[in-house]
Amino acid sequence: MTKKTLTREIPNAWDKYSDEDIKKVFDVSDRYKQFMSACKTERECVDEFVKMAEEKGYKDLKEIIKNGDTLKAGDKVYANNMGKTLAMFVIGKQSFEKGLTILGAHVDSPRLDIKQNPLYEDSELALLETHYYGGVKKYQWVAIPLAIHGVVVKKDNTVVNVVIGEDDNDPVVGVSDLLIHLSADQLGKKGDKVVEGEDLNLLVGSRPIKDKDVKEKVKENILVILNEKYDITEEDFVSAELEIVPAGKARDYGLDRSMVMAYGHDDRICAFTSFEAIAKIDETEKTCVALFVDKEEIGSVGATGMHSKFFENIVAEVMDRVGEYSELKLRRCLTNSKMLSSDVSAAFDPNYPSVMEKKNAAFFGKGIVFNKYTGSRGKGGCNDANPEFIAQIRAIMDKHNVAWQTAELGKVDQGGGGTIAYILAEYNMEVIDCGIALQNMHAPWEVASKADIYEAVRGYEAFLIEA
Ligand code: MN
Ligand code: MN
Repeated sequence: MTKKTLTREIPNAWDKYSDEDIKKVFDVSDRYKQFMSACKTERECVDEFVKMAEEKGYKDLKEIIKNGDTLKAGDKVYANNMGKTLAMFVIGKQSFEKGLTILGAHVDSPRLDIKQNPLYEDSELALLETHYYGGVKKYQWVAIPLAIHGVVVKKDNTVVNVVIGEDDNDPVVGVSDLLIHLSADQLGKKGDKVVEGEDLNLLVGSRPIKDKDVKEKVKENILVILNEKYDITEEDFVSAELEIVPAGKARDYGLDRSMVMAYGHDDRICAFTSFEAIAKIDETEKTCVALFVDKEEIGSVGATGMHSKFFENIVAEVMDRVGEYSELKLRRCLTNSKMLSSDVSAAFDPNYPSVMEKKNAAFFGKGIVFNKYTGSRGKGGCNDANPEFIAQIRAIMDKHNVAWQTAELGKVDQGGGGTIAYILAEYNMEVIDCGIALQNMHAPWEVASKADIYEAVRGYEAFLIEA
């Protein structure tokens, strides 16, 4: 036996690519950039996935139930939960009791949300109050162009879609920073106090309305503009879900165009690649599932988060349509399922080597990342995947020549993070965390490797076929 077979060296995926492969790498990244430029909220992601799924022949489970239709092997259905969570199924030839192969990712991303009573005037400027969503370094969200995405639901239930700041002709909005000349006090503060949560107020106007008998003329002008464009009033903010996100498109990053910079890679990069993978599946032994959930960044709570009964309920519904539902069969189905719980990893960054343990860090270009565990302070709160399952995954990845690596999220006791893996594992199914490594995770603009995006699609597809 040569030494080569005894040691593990993780090659750079770019080294193995033919010219034909490189074209595929760039093609999937181009599709991804388009998706990311258009989809900046969980609702926009779900809407787009539904559109893309219908083009691939997926039917709405609600319609199938309503019409009393049945499902059989080869059928494709989706279930849309409140426009913010989506489950896609390709029905397999085997019985549901044998279990599902599941890809899971989340489509919510850190951002600034608009408060319920947000609009006010101060010193003849109009501003919107925000409350940040998820883990953000607040100082990163000032002095950059921001866009407003979301919905306003009026009392008569009409839903007004809002996107301001993405078209070249649109205005952008933003949060101001203090000029360096007067920052002596500010720069002496700790990082988490440099910009505080209540200071993340969005400047949206400075022009008073003319000839109106109102006290706050700048605010009034903004209300008139919003009323003309969207037919809404100040009270309608109460039933709105408006998210403030970085304005602008996803871009190639690096002089060699080997990376993508975008808002919301966490975790739409795993969602998009999971979608691409399941979209390739037409016939399957076990039923394949892709699950895109909301609220991961704030603890997977609420009706659209992973802790909700949505997924369990929808698996029961699908089994019922196939003619295989019973309470016991549902339990067996979930227990016998296998899942890749996908979320982003921290890519090794030469600017910040001290937080990483290099032998167990993820690197750009080395492929899809598997994390046996995440968590913090002694693996706290994590799903610790079984070695039997990891062995199966290794074999699948190698059989399909997928570039893969393993990693932890930084040094022991340096910090940590959680995902949705442990929630699905409560059904007693095999689950492992995996995903794509990023630089700048949770910053307004995050960076990922195009090779890793391509390898993730290939890895997810291999898992759906073989697991
Ligand atoms: Mn995430
Ligand atoms: Mn995150």
